[in-house]
Amino acid sequence: MAGYKKKDFRRNTPLAGLQKVAEIYEWIERQIYAKNNLVGQCNACGRCCDFDAYDHRLYVSTPEIIYLAASLGVENLKPMTTGKCPYNIDGRCGVYQYRFAGCRIFSCKADVDFQSRLTEAALKKLKSLCTEYEIPYLYTDLASALNSPIVF
Ligand code: SF4
Ligand code: SF4
Repeated sequence: MAGYKKKDFRRNTPLAGLQKVAEIYEWIERQIYAKNNLVGQCNACGRCCDFDAYDHRLYVSTPEIIYLAASLGVENLKPMTTGKCPYNIDGRCGVYQYRFAGCRIFSCKADVDFQSRLTEAALKKLKSLCTEYEIPYLYTDLASALNSPIVF
């Protein structure tokens, strides 16, 4: 199973790199607002964060996990022990400000092609970030990312 290694975070991701993840998230939000007719409504019910029950999967990239770890503190990263995102508390996202690209893009009522295109474009940016900061690019399901031996 792919893991996120200590040296990747400490050595290669300065503050500027983390800021760039935030900028990519902001870019995603701008694309979503600009295509309002394709986005659909989300009432933040949190059902899609219960992946097994909803039959949904969330994939995350290395910079996103690093960003979350840096934002929350590595010690506050939670393993995923059920089929539900561990940050979903009583149906609400407990890390809303730092949530992943997939969380921002997915909507059960939005245009699927739009979501696919936006996902591909966002991943391209995240991958470029890995190249720029010499971080291995991994794109894995959330359980694998959170449950891998993360030793930042
Ligand atoms: S990070 Fe937040 S929005 Fe994303 S799956 Fe987890 S609870 Fe849901
Ligand atoms: S995308 Fe759909 S299932 Fe997910 S939180 Fe929004 S309304 Fe609920």
